[in-house]
Amino acid sequence: MLEASGMMVFYENMLALNNISMNCESDQIVGVFGANSAGKSTLMYALSGIILDIKKKELMAGGERITVAGDVLFDGKALTGVKPSKRAKMGIVLCPERRRIFKESTVLENLKIGGYLASPAKARDTLEFVFSVFPVLDKLKKRIGGFLSGGEQQMLAIGRALMAQPKILLLDEPLLGLSPLMQAMLIRSTRDIRDQKKISIIITEQYARPVLPIVDYAYVLENGSAVLEGTRNDLMDNPDVRAAYFGI
Ligand code: ATP
Repeated sequence: MLEASGMMVFYENMLALNNISMNCESDQIVGVFGANSAGKSTLMYALSGIILDIKKKELMAGGERITVAGDVLFDGKALTGVKPSKRAKMGIVLCPERRRIFKESTVLENLKIGGYLASPAKARDTLEFVFSVFPVLDKLKKRIGGFLSGGEQQMLAIGRALMAQPKILLLDEPLLGLSPLMQAMLIRSTRDIRDQKKISIIITEQYARPVLPIVDYAYVLENGSAVLEGTRNDLMDNPDVRAAYFGI
């Protein structure tokens, strides 16, 4: 479904992604794990095409030179040069790191903004689905986004991404800064989204442990390179891997 091959990203002459090849099949949940600065967000920007916007902005501002190489294929079609807005319309939707919701708008307004491209009937159905996965958002729908807790804001960010009708959802560090209880709830919801809507999901995290139980396949990044990959069982069954990367 979504396949990257030989992805390279340089910020000036700093290599942030080094020849990354990865694949997410239909209905799969794929994990991408790595420490701070490993390149997780850069990979998400490359897959969603946002790196092209960042590159353009930097160029216009006379800032650093960003170089992107490699191919991304979506259902077999090359996405080279395809703008992020077009990729989103095709069904590749990024839910970025640090929950960028509209803090001045209500929960319902945030969700409706996310669904602006969908037909009214689809938007209504998806809204119902979002409330079924995150019932607390239904209760808080008139609340201003900025007044929500971190976990509620993360649910809203995922809900808003769902309203954009993704075929593949890119979740960049959704668990960051949340309590273990909230993390567990979000991980269950992530699995429900895949199971109930057949949406493929790529999820990045620093710590694999809370996420590993729901992934079908995972990659470990170190300094922009993929140092390890395998199915959940491959990774879980390897004692060296478990000790070194997953703290179990
Ligand atoms: P984190 O968990 O901290 O979000 P990450 O794994 O998402 O980390 P990236 O944000 O992709 O990592 O960063 C990879 C490397 O690229 C880091 O060394 C970072 O400092 C650098 N980097 C990221 N964005 C830029 C940019 N716009 N300009 C220059 N360097 C950047």
